[in-house]
Amino acid sequence: MMPSPREQLIQAARAMAARGLAAGTSGNVSLRTQGGILITPSAVPYEALTPEMIPLLHEDGSHEGPYRPSSEWRFHLDLHLSRPEIGGVVHHHAPHTTALAMARREIPPCHYMVARFGGGNVRCAGYALFGTAELSAEVVKALEGRTACLMASHGGLAVGRDVWAALAAATELEVLAQHYLLSLAAGGPVLLSEAEITAALTQFATAYRPNTGA
Ligand code: 13P
Ligand code: ZN
Repeated sequence: MMPSPREQLIQAARAMAARGLAAGTSGNVSLRTQGGILITPSAVPYEALTPEMIPLLHEDGSHEGPYRPSSEWRFHLDLHLSRPEIGGVVHHHAPHTTALAMARREIPPCHYMVARFGGGNVRCAGYALFGTAELSAEVVKALEGRTACLMASHGGLAVGRDVWAALAAATELEVLAQHYLLSLAAGGPVLLSEAEITAALTQFATAYRPNTGA
């Protein structure tokens, strides 16, 4: 039987932790359903989650359920409302992503995989206190035309058509951040030209589209 949306949210949050992307209770995950947005509860270890603990967030910011939603519910809600093409949002404090975010450096076109996130760079959102509407405004801006961004002095954020696509993007963001940091240590990357990034974007949209077997 197909896992319920609540079960899928828990599986995705646990997978995020198991992949080393989120230690303790850092990070949060949401997915959109017809009845509203399911989001991880605030400050609960991922291994302790049960379906009944998952809050349901409504468009007006109110929620159902005994547990309070993630402190970052604002940016989850704002992203789901402003980006109808996305169905999942993953936020983490993974080590390499966070190291770059602490340096407040964007990821430049240092590898063709940068284009996987929708453009010629992965931006770093401006700093704002965690759990605030100001932070939400910063990340919505940094994610314009992109599926991932860094968050200054905080971590990383990725979106996708569903929670699994968002988790895949969040995982690949951490790998890209690791590659970029290693290449900085090796003398610094040679950056791709605008034409090379445009070609990579086209390749992702055509030759490397989802492989459904059809
Ligand atoms: P929550 O436990 O409230 O989701 O907070 C974790 C976090 O990463 C805040 O930015
Ligand atoms: Zn965080």
